[in-house]
Amino acid sequence: MSATLGVLIKKTMPEARVILFERLPDVALESSNPWNNAGTGHAALCELNYMPDSKDGSLPDASKAIAINEQFQVSRQFWAELVKLGVLQSPETFIRTVPHMTFVTGAKDVDYLKRRFAALKDQPLFAGLAYSEDKKTISKWAPLIVEGRNSGSYAATFIDQGTDVDYGAITQQLISWLRAEGVEVLTATEVTRLYQYQDKTWRLTLKGKHSGRLIKAEKVFVGAGGWALKLLQAARIPEIKGYGTFPVSGHFLRTDNPVLVAKHHAKVYSQAAVGAPPMSVPHLDTRVVDGKTSLLFGPFAGLNPKFLKSGSILDLPLSVRPANILPYLSVAIKNFSLVRYLISEILKSKKQKLQSLKDFIPSSDLQGWELYEAGQRAQVIKPVKGGGTLQFGTEVISAKDSSIAGLLGASPGASVSVSVMLDVMQKFYPERFSSFEPALKKLIPSYGKKLNADPALAKKTLASTAKTLKLKA
Ligand SMILES: Cc1cc2nc3c(=O)[nH]c(=O)nc-3n(C[C@H](O)[C@H](O)[C@H](O)COP(=O)(O)OP(=O)(O)OC[C@H]3O[C@@H](n4cnc5c(N)ncnc54)[C@H](O)[C@@H]3O)c2cc1C
Repeated sequence: MSATLGVLIKKTMPEARVILFERLPDVALESSNPWNNAGTGHAALCELNYMPDSKDGSLPDASKAIAINEQFQVSRQFWAELVKLGVLQSPETFIRTVPHMTFVTGAKDVDYLKRRFAALKDQPLFAGLAYSEDKKTISKWAPLIVEGRNSGSYAATFIDQGTDVDYGAITQQLISWLRAEGVEVLTATEVTRLYQYQDKTWRLTLKGKHSGRLIKAEKVFVGAGGWALKLLQAARIPEIKGYGTFPVSGHFLRTDNPVLVAKHHAKVYSQAAVGAPPMSVPHLDTRVVDGKTSLLFGPFAGLNPKFLKSGSILDLPLSVRPANILPYLSVAIKNFSLVRYLISEILKSKKQKLQSLKDFIPSSDLQGWELYEAGQRAQVIKPVKGGGTLQFGTEVISAKDSSIAGLLGASPGASVSVSVMLDVMQKFYPERFSSFEPALKKLIPSYGKKLNADPALAKKTLASTAKTLKLKA
């Protein structure tokens, strides 16, 4: 997020002096690291949680799915333009076509998927979406999920337009460019305190390699992932009052077995278990990291009080303030089924986790699948009248004086980083923002327009970004 914002700032205000702080020895070691996230280019092509079923059996509402796809197209265009400008390296170092599929079983979910397909198939941004209940067809798309499966009702959708993205590689490449543009990147340097002077500028206190250095800043973006809450609380801005963070850890099973890898080329998302958080839908993914292909299955969620993978077990207790006790308590009470689900996930043995995989790919040999810990998701607890609510999206929190902003939450995450950082730019520079538009239009050719509302533009944009990023159109 911070790397993306840095590029947006340097492309719109080349004269701006930007400093980036990273507490770890290098950038992209937390959630943006390729092994800490699933690398899905979230465009709502396959994820059911972005388009829940209707209550009355009518077509489900496609508006959220379309909005997420629109945001992903902003990222795609930005990355494509940055490839042309030489900011990002050749596209295969960070993005590639991996078809997106949804696979469901049982009459109820088959009916839902069919209606989801009906609602999306004519939307310009979902062009090419296919639906099937036929074993042979699904087997062509993803043989592993139907081989050995008992006959019964199941269905799948498939779209060639899906992507696998290495957000760590994007981060590294953007930061290299920022360094070359004179941005100071201070690694092994933690921001511990923020103090606002009367003139509204900020003083940052640092720990680590650059401790003792005086940093004064006009604008501060808190792109600290799970620790954003902690830093915004340290800044004492009233806008953060009442907010909390609900941490959910994630584990995946991974195999590099060439036989299995060769047989599966898709990201197959399914339906979440009862009580499971929306980001815990099981999926079997092709992942390409550093040119090497693996398969990933998960995530298996769990309760862990850390807000970052390399955070502290005190993160959760130390985030409690008088203003957020009620939101924390009410979320724990209202989401008891979620808490119960997370505890049950922690208690699952590796054998039980492999059994979940077996349910997904019934006839495959499960030798060589290893369980590993991915990143930590920090979901937003938002204060509402009389308590709090658990949100599964992202939220930009900014001070009224536009001097500081931070990002809470995790989903759809890195896929929509460009749209979210444009929101931050707007919050930082409400009066100047319109003057950035010419530069932004060069980076995002469809800037200001809705692609899904203009089929010709959608087609043209999808085709041109696909060409530059070497993706299937
Ligand atoms: C299990 C899992 C699966 C996911 N899958 C996907 C997916 O498939 N697709 C997708 O688009 N998104 C996915 N996401 C979400 C995505 O990974 C995140 O939204 C995105 O990486 C967040 O980027 P960020 O820059 O905000 O945070 P991060 O990448 O976590 O970076 C924050 C950085 O701030 C540093 N930092 C923190 N505090 C301080 C401090 N005080 N001083 C200095 N530095 C500090 C940290 O060390 C870290 O490097 C997933 C996340 C998880 C956990």
